[in-house]
This record gives sequence, structure tokens and C-alpha cells, in this order.
Amino acid sequence: MKKKIAIIGAGIGGLCLANLLQKNSNYEIMLYEKEEALRLDEGYGIQLAVNSVTILNKIGFNDLNKNEKFNPIKLDFYSNKNKITDLDLTQFNFNEDKYTTLKRSVLIRFLKDKLFSNLIRFNKTLKKVDQIDQKLRITFNDDQVNEVDYLIVADGVFSKTRSMLENKNIKPNYLGSMAFRFLIDKNRQKYFDKNNISLVMGSDCHLVAYPVDPNNLNIVMIARAKEKSLQKFQESSYIKSFLNNSILKDYPEVINFENNDFKFWPIYFSKKPQLPILKNVFYLGDAFYAFPPTMAQGASQSIEASMELFEILQSNKSEKEKEYFENRLKRSEMIIKRSKFNYFAFHLKSNFFIWFREIILKRAIKNKNFIDSYLGRVFNK
Ligand SMILES: Cc1cc2nc3c(=O)[nH]c(=O)nc-3n(C[C@H](O)[C@H](O)[C@H](O)COP(=O)(O)OP(=O)(O)OC[C@H]3O[C@@H](n4cnc5c(N)ncnc54)[C@H](O)[C@@H]3O)c2cc1C
Repeated sequence: MKKKIAIIGAGIGGLCLANLLQKNSNYEIMLYEKEEALRLDEGYGIQLAVNSVTILNKIGFNDLNKNEKFNPIKLDFYSNKNKITDLDLTQFNFNEDKYTTLKRSVLIRFLKDKLFSNLIRFNKTLKKVDQIDQKLRITFNDDQVNEVDYLIVADGVFSKTRSMLENKNIKPNYLGSMAFRFLIDKNRQKYFDKNNISLVMGSDCHLVAYPVDPNNLNIVMIARAKEKSLQKFQESSYIKSFLNNSILKDYPEVINFENNDFKFWPIYFSKKPQLPILKNVFYLGDAFYAFPPTMAQGASQSIEASMELFEILQSNKSEKEKEYFENRLKRSEMIIKRSKFNYFAFHLKSNFFIWFREIILKRAIKNKNFIDSYLGRVFNK
């Protein structure tokens, strides 16, 4: 008999897992999404390291139109306005598996288009889950009831489904920073190398610029802001002066505040997850563990976890939840440690520590053992 699998949340993790599972005719899958359609907003960029591109290529990502994705060559490090050093990103590439930057909408569209039709049900949220022996009876907001063998929860960083299943309000932590994002014309800007990723480290802030298509660079700025001051960001004049006094001091003309494309949001990361209470329930992507953005691994980890889950579901192992949970936790903790360290190192304020960071960074980047251990263990799993 076919195993029935319900996936809650049609984001990067949920869509990727559905793509992997649909290849196995022993499964009957259905994807349930809260929104009335997939969000394909233009603009948002995403970086995919080789660890996730390897998996995506198994479902045809290498056939995507070359104009819709980009393979940056280097990561350029700037301390305020001065370039300090660069990291060769191609050292992590393997044949067709290359470090990739693209628009988030392109990735979502690709994952959706590869799915068999009618696998996604929209306007759906879970209301109740009952364990009946080895099966799960799931009830939706519209009172539709379904009985499944496995329930995969992939509804993002604020996962309401996880709170419902664990009978407590699970809230992520505020990182202490806001993210600001916009696109700029690649050829009209004078600051960044348009073939590379640029990382500008400032005081209490950093900026990342990378190409997403032949014309545009995606810019993300992360700047520290106290939680109690978040309300002030509703005023556009406050945002302008906040950014002009922080990361934009050295890049005065880079942003056009009047551009509709300008978006901002507070950043959250997860508390340490726990093994699900119910049997045959799995948390995926940000619903399992949302990372600070300073390793650019959020989407890549959702994709990587989809593959881990796919392999475990197909195996004969008896304690599938435990094995998935323990492996995922170990990997997530390694990445979260690095993300937190980067967050600290990117935002140094004291001139002495900045000077020291430059010396260390220049040496570390050219040290193969260090790079293999710090980045290779993440990018080349
Ligand atoms: C500033 C910033 C920059 C980032 N940059 C990068 C980067 O460069 N590279 C990278 O790899 N990652 C990056 N990330 C992280 C990345 O975007 C996320 O980690 C990734 O999207 C997580 O995928 P997911 O599938 O777990 O969740 P999501 O993509 O958030 O998808 C969750 C889905 O579930 C749906 N949903 C929500 N609630 C419910 C519900 N109750 N019922 C049903 N459906 C529901 C949502 O509508 C959504 O479709 C960044 C994050 C931030 C904040």
C-alpha cells in the first residue's frame, strides 16, 4: 500500500521535498499552503551554496535558463570602503554543482513547475492532529479530514503548526538586527564587482551585494536595531536617517529610497528544537531551525534537510524521527555557531579589533586547512 504524506507549507523546503518524493511511486503526497497562491515577488535574492545545488541538480536545476541564475566567482571582503581580500568560491564547485545566486521567485517557480500538477492545495492550515496507532488524522481549517502516514511541517520560522503540535507557543528569538533589501542596476553602480559577491563589514552592520540576473545586483543590509525601536521603522524618514548614518555612510548613492522595490523586516532565529511529541511527524527547514543570515545557509539547509528526510523515509529504520532529528540538530548547531561568529565578526566597532580582523582574515582566507574546515564542511557536505 502507498504511504500517504502531508507536507504543510509550500516554501523552499516543502517544495523541494515534494519534488524528491514524487519520483517514488510508493508515496502519495499532498502539499498544503496557507496562502492562496505561491509568493513569486520579484526581487528577493537568494544564495545557494554547492551543498544545495548538488541536490537541486538532481531535479533538473542545471537546465534552468542561464539568464535566470548566476555563478559568482569570488566573495570580496570590504571593511567599510576598502577591499581587504577575497575568497575564491570556485574551489567549492564540482562539475555542474556551482555556487549560485538568483531571484527567490525563480527558485520557487522552478520547484513548482517540476511538480506534478494539482499537488498543492491552497488556503489550507492545520487545525488539529490526532495520532491513531501508526497513522495521523489531520483536520484543516475548513474541517477537511485526512489520514496520513507521515506529517512534514515546513511552514517557516514562525511555524504555527509546530506550536499547535507541541501544545505551546514556540517563538523564535529576535536577532537584534533588521534586514533591508533592494535591487540596483549592475552596470550603473560604481562600488561592487558585478561578477562577485561583495561583503561590506561596517560598525554594527554589514551589506551583501550579489548578481541575481544579467542586469541587477541584489543588496541586503543587516543593521543592528533594538527590539523596542522597531516601531520607529514605520516612518520612512527614520529609515533613511538610520541607514544614512550606518552602512550607507560610505555608499551614499547606492540606494533610491523612492524605489518600490525597497523592503525591510526584523530578523528572527530559532531556539534549540526538540524531538516532536508525536510519532511520524518531522519538522523541515526554518520550522526545524531558522539560522541567522550570516552564513547565507537558510535555503540551502532547507534543501539539504529535504534530501536527508527523503532518504530516511525510504529506509527501513524503525526510529526515523529520532535519527532525522539527531543528525539535523548536529548539522544545524555547527552552522548556527558559524553564523553567530560571523555576525559578531562582521559588525566590529573598535578600530583596534577591525585592524586585527583584517590581519586574521587575510591569512585565514588563503589557508586551505582553515577554509576546508570552516566553509568546506558546510558547502561540501
Ligand atoms: C535577510 C535574509 C537573507 C537571507 N538570505 C539567504 C540566502 O542568501 N541564502 C539562503 O540560503 N537563505 C537565505 N535566507 C533564509 C531563507 O530565506 C529561509 O531559510 C528559507 O526560505 C526557509 O525555507 P522554508 O521552506 O523552511 O520556509 P519558507 O520559505 O519561509 O516557506 C514556508 C511556507 O509555509 C507557508 N506557511 C506559513 N504558515 C503556514 C501554515 N500555518 N500552514 C500552511 N502553510 C504555511 C508560507 O506561506 C510559506 O509558503 C535569508 C533570510 C533572511 C532573513
